Amino acid sequence: MVQLASQDNAAQDIGALMRQQRQFFDAGSTRSVAERVENLKRLKQAVLEAQADIVQALAADLGRPEFEATTFETGVVMEINEAIKHLKRWAKPKWVMPSLMQFPSLAQIYAEPLGIVLIIGPWNYPVQLMLSPLVGAIAAGNCAVLKPSELAPHTSRAIAHLIRKTFDPSFVAVVEGGVETSQQLLEQRWDHIFFTGGTAVGKIVMQAAAQHLTPVTLELGGKSPCFVDADIDVMKAAQRIAWGKFINAGQTCVAPDYLLVDRRVKLALVEALNTTLQAFYGDDPATSPDYGRIVSDRHFERLARLLGQGAVLTGGQTNAEQRYIAPTLLDDVSLSAPIMQEEIFGPILPIIAYDTLDEAIALVQAKSKPLALYIFSRDRDYQTRILHRTSSGGVCINDTILQIAESQLPFGGVGDSGIGRYHGKASFDTFSHHKSVLRKFFRFDLDWRYAPYKNKLGMLKTMIK
Ligand code: NAD
Repeated sequence: MVQLASQDNAAQDIGALMRQQRQFFDAGSTRSVAERVENLKRLKQAVLEAQADIVQALAADLGRPEFEATTFETGVVMEINEAIKHLKRWAKPKWVMPSLMQFPSLAQIYAEPLGIVLIIGPWNYPVQLMLSPLVGAIAAGNCAVLKPSELAPHTSRAIAHLIRKTFDPSFVAVVEGGVETSQQLLEQRWDHIFFTGGTAVGKIVMQAAAQHLTPVTLELGGKSPCFVDADIDVMKAAQRIAWGKFINAGQTCVAPDYLLVDRRVKLALVEALNTTLQAFYGDDPATSPDYGRIVSDRHFERLARLLGQGAVLTGGQTNAEQRYIAPTLLDDVSLSAPIMQEEIFGPILPIIAYDTLDEAIALVQAKSKPLALYIFSRDRDYQTRILHRTSSGGVCINDTILQIAESQLPFGGVGDSGIGRYHGKASFDTFSHHKSVLRKFFRFDLDWRYAPYKNKLGMLKTMIK
């Protein structure tokens, strides 16, 4: 971990760290694929060893139950196994067949590391969203600097400790701090910036990156809608919706933000959601060991304000001291109220009934493109109509959240919900430059391309038809 003694010399420290990493990278120290695999194994081992510390830190920051810490944090980071298994194949230069015009020649695409990359993370899944991108960065042969969120301070410390124990800072380092530290980091010239956070800060990151023409991956948020058809298994749908919405007390970037429910099934769904919430968290979720807390007072107050923007069907209880907000179902929300304009990012679920699917689709089309979109229906035609007429980072049909757990499916947003994608091979590609190499020989030369061009134009025109 890099200790930034004071804001005055923080920039100097960051500069020194980057010079160190640049030197390490330029010396070719990250090029060997075998060494990258060893580093991934080291990271895996370190995460496994730090499991107890991580669980403790997440409980302190977010009241996160151990089951969720294991499933959604360290469990997700174990996609590292896939990188270890496939890296040799991913990193191999790919042969492609050149056109006849190039004869004789050979053509290859090399995946080369970008250099030194900055990874900035949010607080809501503070381990996964730091270490998963790091897997891609290491696999692709980069040096990396991580900036965890200051809003999950215990976890930030745990990550810094884990990385310091495992890697030399000239290869991977953690810089802890808040917005100012983040801004100082963003002033530097990186070879890639991988940012996970809100859309507003995403714009700041992109602006800073533009100063150096640094490419960015922006993993942002948004209002992810959940369509519910009348033809469903109501109980199963309710369980899967409640699970996706209320894990981590709703503070999940791909949580269903609001429901668009066929009016004919609304009552049955609300009943099933109530039964489900009772089964998940008991009569009083405030006493459940499996229900989380809101990350900060600011977010608690923001969410408490949103609670008043509809009729509470279920829940609605709050406790400011504990930053507790009960799992809440809201009816009668106005489409122009803030709750339907901003990302909720908390345990409040507005339920909007529709009479025609077209009307529900129009509602989604009128908003920014979301990170996720959910469809509950047995009807293929219903599913297809939504798939073809809406745009979102990803889609999950008849479940929630699980689309991001499939490493064969690249994960990322579109429009306001982000730029770029990762997970599995997509992470390797995100942190690589795919360099095209054409290899020619001194034998054979079609000299018609050289001046003088007299009498050659006719032939050229025939060739390019
Ligand atoms: P945030 O954008 O406020 O903060 C993210 C990071 O940016 C933090 O490390 C913070 O220190 C830094 N930061 C904050 N303000 C900054 C500024 N002005 N200049 C430079 N850096 C700054 O996000 P958050 O509140 O930590 O996380 C919640 C948001 O993240 C939600 O919108 C959620 O949807 C989104 N999110 C997206 C994903 C995804 O994978 N797409 C995952 C998790 C969270």
